[in-house]
Amino acid sequence: MLDAPSLPRYIRPMTRTQFSHVDTWVFDLDNTLYPPEAHLLEQLSPRMTDWIAANLGLKRQEADELREDYWARYGTTAAGLMAKHDVAPAAFLAHAHDLPLDALKPAPELAAAIAALPGRHLVFTNSPVDWAHRVLKETGLDHVFDAVHGAEDAQYIPKPKPQAFSKVFEVADIAPQKAAFFEDDSRNLEVPARLGMRTVHVSPNPETAPYIHHGTQDLTAFLRDIA
Ligand SMILES: [Mg+2]
Repeated sequence: MLDAPSLPRYIRPMTRTQFSHVDTWVFDLDNTLYPPEAHLLEQLSPRMTDWIAANLGLKRQEADELREDYWARYGTTAAGLMAKHDVAPAAFLAHAHDLPLDALKPAPELAAAIAALPGRHLVFTNSPVDWAHRVLKETGLDHVFDAVHGAEDAQYIPKPKPQAFSKVFEVADIAPQKAAFFEDDSRNLEVPARLGMRTVHVSPNPETAPYIHHGTQDLTAFLRDIA
């Protein structure tokens, strides 16, 4: 039975055959596998600011501006801290991600939709692997993924930098021509598309660009239509 959503679910026409060559399904984690309404990333930011203020000896306002500036310029705040301050990222990220996950809910329908996709199911996040495992456990998605790749696997080089993709694709043995990538941050779709991946922008406001092949507001519904 077809739903009749008030908003279009897809910004580009989508057919099963556009994914029939795909045997590796790669998902971003934060705000992709759980909704942005959980507001988890917003909770990371003040904790990052606290760490920066304490460890770089800055006022809170200065630390907050630095955090935002590095996120915009380096892809993640951790990458900016590594590049400009020679900070070891593991301690910084562990402090930032030491959060309760009460805002997350189990997502059994999404779990079933991912499990039904033919082939390997992978997570590729800029967050630490330990955080990814906690999030997947809390949302009940832990059993549907074959592997989780995080900041450590990319040696803390973040998406959208090409080296982040090449490092993780090597570790995970991903052939881009036979893979699809699902991600909420549209900046992170350009390199995968160039490498030959089929790209899907998962967002309340899917964007249009030549490297965004599809967009959806409802990942579960989108995946059900592919499988
Ligand atoms: Mg994300």
